[in-house]
Amino acid sequence: MNIKPLDILRVTEKSFVIAGPCSAESLEQTLTTAKELSSLGVKVFRAGLWKPRSKPGSFEGVGTKGLEWLQKVKESTGMLIATEIANAIHTREALKAQVDILWIGARTTANPFAVQEIADVLETQIKSKKIKRNQITILVKNPVNPDLDLWIGAMERIANAGIEQIGAIHRGFSTYEKGLFRNLPHWHIPIELKRRVPQLTIICDPSHIGGRKELIHPISQQALNMGFSGLMIESHIEPERALSDKEQQITPKMLKSIMELLVVRESIDNSESLTELRREIDELDQMLLNLLSKRMAISREIGRYKKEYSIPVFQPSRYNHMVIRRISQASELMVDPDFVKLILQAIHQESVRQQLEIFNSTKNKNQ
Ligand code: PEP
Ligand code: MN
Repeated sequence: MNIKPLDILRVTEKSFVIAGPCSAESLEQTLTTAKELSSLGVKVFRAGLWKPRSKPGSFEGVGTKGLEWLQKVKESTGMLIATEIANAIHTREALKAQVDILWIGARTTANPFAVQEIADVLETQIKSKKIKRNQITILVKNPVNPDLDLWIGAMERIANAGIEQIGAIHRGFSTYEKGLFRNLPHWHIPIELKRRVPQLTIICDPSHIGGRKELIHPISQQALNMGFSGLMIESHIEPERALSDKEQQITPKMLKSIMELLVVRESIDNSESLTELRREIDELDQMLLNLLSKRMAISREIGRYKKEYSIPVFQPSRYNHMVIRRISQASELMVDPDFVKLILQAIHQESVRQQLEIFNSTKNKNQ
């Protein structure tokens, strides 16, 4: 794949921040946010104009008219401007308005037809000399599903169109189970991407991974520790009134304090093994949580059975037997028996609580 390291790395700093609202909502909101961000030294402004929303009826972006607002941002601040494109029409409109950076959103990357449609517009415009091959930067977000080939495939389509300035954005992968993250980071996927395409610039979008303001700093730091080249962070002058993604948007002031706290790691090699070990820990913890969730579901099932056959919730002999057996298993696995006893007690206590809840709720129903 003919991909070069991004030029925006040169106009910004070593590690760069792209910031701006999830959506452009009005000229005033767009300009005020951009000016504040520019005063912090942010060189690239993002704002979504065409918003892919899960359900109809929510705010779907201001569309084409927002392109003028982005141009005003460029004129008044000198920032580079970036927006999301999802089809051929968006691409033509954004190119006509001389948007510097176009990103392909996670839902679009998952759709090869849409990516090809975008690539075809780019190719036609390069061939007809409407745009130069290195004038426009295309950033490709990972697909919503954890499929590295699909992600690379999307970048290949854009590269085949003749574009050289291509970068990747890691924004996490969607999951059915709601947990700490809005989108699971699965860090090993961007790491594998970097291994397969070493010259590729990869940046991280902590806003869509975390889905919550408090997670932006830790995720950003983790990304920098892992050697990502930059960050895309959603910032809004009044997050609580944002028309989309209000939980994860931060004010430019908050962004400033995060940027001051962030430590840019010059050498990534030292921390690579640590990162790998942490990734394994994260995965194991996720497995532990999944197991706990399954275990509690079975406890509740047992609770329903005990209720039906009028068996008391607490069975001391069964509990004793279980503790003795688990402790001897733990010793065999070189896990501290006292530690295991503590965990078993906590799990058992929670099981009993959940079973009692079943007993009580049934009682209430009959009352
Ligand atoms: C966005 O950047 O606002 C957006 C919609 O992102 P994603 O495609 O990652 O959901
Ligand atoms: Mn968003």
